Amino acid sequence: MRARPAMTDHTTRDDLRIEEGIRDLIRYVGDNPDRPGVQETPARVRKAWKHWCSGYYQDAGALLKTFEDGTPENSQMVIVRNVELYSHCEHHMAPFFGIAHVAYLPSARIVGLSKLARVVDVFARRLQVQERMTDQIADSIMKGLEPRGVGVMVVAKHFCMCSRGVNKQGSDTVTTALRGEFLTDAAVKNEFLQLVRI
Ligand code: ZN
Repeated sequence: MRARPAMTDHTTRDDLRIEEGIRDLIRYVGDNPDRPGVQETPARVRKAWKHWCSGYYQDAGALLKTFEDGTPENSQMVIVRNVELYSHCEHHMAPFFGIAHVAYLPSARIVGLSKLARVVDVFARRLQVQERMTDQIADSIMKGLEPRGVGVMVVAKHFCMCSRGVNKQGSDTVTTALRGEFLTDAAVKNEFLQLVRI
């Protein structure tokens, strides 16, 4: 019996077209899309990708709009370290994953720390290149909080590189984006680099 994707209350015509495509892919790689173990796979894959790319439907600016009142007089660096991130490279749609360290020097506004982690998700849950994602996280915080500066470092492993390369299994890719005083003030930059030392 051929189990074609079936329309339910919640699936759209577009969803079904995508599921057909995933069936084609399963066939293309050498498997049988009607095999019991993979019959539900097209729907699962579609839903998983919807989640992995949910950042396209989120607005980091809106997240940072609900800032908290008051900034301490001599505001010091705020840093959230080791924010887990899961993204996909835009070249292979393969996972890359790791951690982000996000720091800023408050000026006018501060936000709840969990918001910074959520900003990471907004940009990670898209098809990405690590360099651009790092920049986008930094720029959105600069724009949203107007701080004295921002520092972002991302350390990630790329599945497309680890799995296909020759002896690349152990390699990490590190990207940084520095803005404001993180760029212009060596002491600030050094403090950030000390705090995120890998
Ligand atoms: Zn790739």
